[in-house]
Formats: sequence, structure tokens, C-alpha cells
Amino acid sequence: MQIPGWNLGITGAAYLATAAMLSAVFHELGHALCAASLGVPMLSCGVFLLIVWPGAFVQLDDKSLARRTPSERMRISSAGIWHNVVLAVAASAAIRALPTLLAPAYANARIQPMGVVVVQVDAAASPSLLASLQQGDRIVKLNRGGIAGGIPGWKAMLEDAAAGGAGTADELVGRLLPSRCASLSADFFEQPQCDSARDCPRGQICMAPRIARSGDRILHLDLCSAGLSDQCQTRRLTFVGDPHELAAYVLVSEHVPRHWIFPLWLPVVAETLLRYVVSLNAALAVLNAVPAFDLDGQRLLADGMRVLAGSGGVLRLAADGALGAAEHATVAAAALCLCLLAAYAVVGAVVGG
Ligand SMILES: [Zn+2]
Repeated sequence: MQIPGWNLGITGAAYLATAAMLSAVFHELGHALCAASLGVPMLSCGVFLLIVWPGAFVQLDDKSLARRTPSERMRISSAGIWHNVVLAVAASAAIRALPTLLAPAYANARIQPMGVVVVQVDAAASPSLLASLQQGDRIVKLNRGGIAGGIPGWKAMLEDAAAGGAGTADELVGRLLPSRCASLSADFFEQPQCDSARDCPRGQICMAPRIARSGDRILHLDLCSAGLSDQCQTRRLTFVGDPHELAAYVLVSEHVPRHWIFPLWLPVVAETLLRYVVSLNAALAVLNAVPAFDLDGQRLLADGMRVLAGSGGVLRLAADGALGAAEHATVAAAALCLCLLAAYAVVGAVVGG
């Protein structure tokens, strides 16, 4: 789980804030457009920052609103919710359509098997990895196997390597540094090579160098630095370490620019922002439908009861009572929902991403 300000990072918080502002503005736009279509004037509108959480508001003319029928008010109250649902569905469709939308500028590695392209190496990666992998390098092969299927294909190959599909670091060390005769007092590298203790002078044993970390693997990465060109001269990087380090610290993209003028980061930013928009809009729609203090759900419930009751009767009294009682009784529920919204949005965005 990632929490803004703790482990979400500045980039994640920027995505969250942008998506929150978009979602809030679109929600209020829904109320405003519906109110305008029913002839209810808008007195003011704007955006605000609630401590660190961005929001938006529209203020409608209460007297004009009171003159509308309950079903008309329900249309205005529900407009924000369904606008969030529409935006979530549209953003979800845009994620699926991204390869097609970006096709004029970016080739997609899921469609054409061309490996994955390095967007960024995290500063927390090992110094050797930071020095060897450059932004824009296209990783075309892993242990001589071509990388197909974009990011899922790349991650599956890394998982396979971590599970023992590649040679262990000990095997590599054994090849580069053969066993040598050694005693506790002798300089290991100065001693003769050996296959067994029989090759060694008396008092010495035949020792093989080892690497302590059992999860280390040898990975050969074939890299191409010439964009999309098929005639690219590849260079080979031999990585000795945990394959999970590559998965965690090397941000790759399956959108390969067709020309250097198209930035590498653009598809990554677009897709990540869209995922946050999906999560936040789904969360906002659910939250606002809750019949809690000052949320759309409370107004929908009260007007819904008025619609059921017609112009009079017990339900009408209950509806008026519900409005007043809900204001006092559900403040705590609203606070709880806000906490759940924040947790759901962050978890959803992170899991989705
Ligand atoms: Zn609303």
C-alpha cells in the first residue's frame, strides 16, 4: 500500500492531485450542466484545496432549486455521480485504445515483438546498473531469447530467470575464476589452479569461489540504442544479481517512439494518469452515492422519498425528517467514507498501475 507523503513519492502525489482535480471538476460540471438545462441559475463555481486535497464546487440558486420538482432535483443531484462513472469508463477505454491512439508516433511492442524500451533507471538501483543502462536503450533479448508481448512478456522472462531459468552467479564465477589451491594464509589468486585436493600441495585444499546471495542470477541483456532500427548494432550487458532488481528499478515502456522528437515518457505518463482517473472517479461515484451528510446521496434519498410520497402523506414527513436527521447522524459516516475514498483511490491507482 502506498500513502502520499510517506512512500507514494512526489511523482505519485502529482498524479493523484491531477486526477483528483480532473474528477472533481468533471463531477461539478455534471451538476452545473444539468441545472442549466433545467433553468436553475448557477451563482458561483470554483476550485479549492482542502489542506492538500484538490476539490471543486458549484453553487446553485437555492430558491430556484426549491421550485423544481423532486424528480428534477434528483436529476441534478445524480448528474455529478454519473459524470464520474462516464469519465471512469472513458478513461478505461482510453487505456485499452492507447496503442491505437499513439500508433502514428509510437510502435507498440505487444503488436510488434521489439522488446521494451528503458524510460528511467531508479536512483536506488545498484551503481553498476545505473551506469550500464541508458534512457532510450531498447532491451531486445534476455539470455538470447527475444522479448515479445511488451511489458508482460518482459516481466514473465524476469520471473522465469528468478525461478532458476538462468544460470546462477556461482556458475559464472566458476567459469571466470577457476578453483585454486588455498590455505588460510595463502593469497588465493596467486595459487595454482586445481580440480581437486590431489592437485594441491600438502596442507592446502582446492577451493571454488562463490557468491553469497542465493537469489543472484546471470542475465545477458542485448541492448539496442538506435530507436526502432532493425539493423541496430546490439551491445550485450551481463547483469549479475537478483532479476527482481531489474523489474523494480528499471522503468520500461512498450511504446517505442518512431522518431526522436516523440518523448519516451509521454505514453507512460498518459497511461498512469488515466489509471488514477479510473480509480478516483469510480471511488468518487461510490462515495457521493452514500446517503451521508451533504453528499449527493443524501439529497437523492430525500427527493426519492418525496417522489414516492407524491404531494403529501407520511413519507413526505419522513423525507423532510430524513434530511434533518441525516445531517446530524451521518457526519461520522461521511468522515469514514472520505477516509475510505482516499484509501481506495490510492490502492486502486497503485494496484492498477
Ligand atoms: Zn455532487
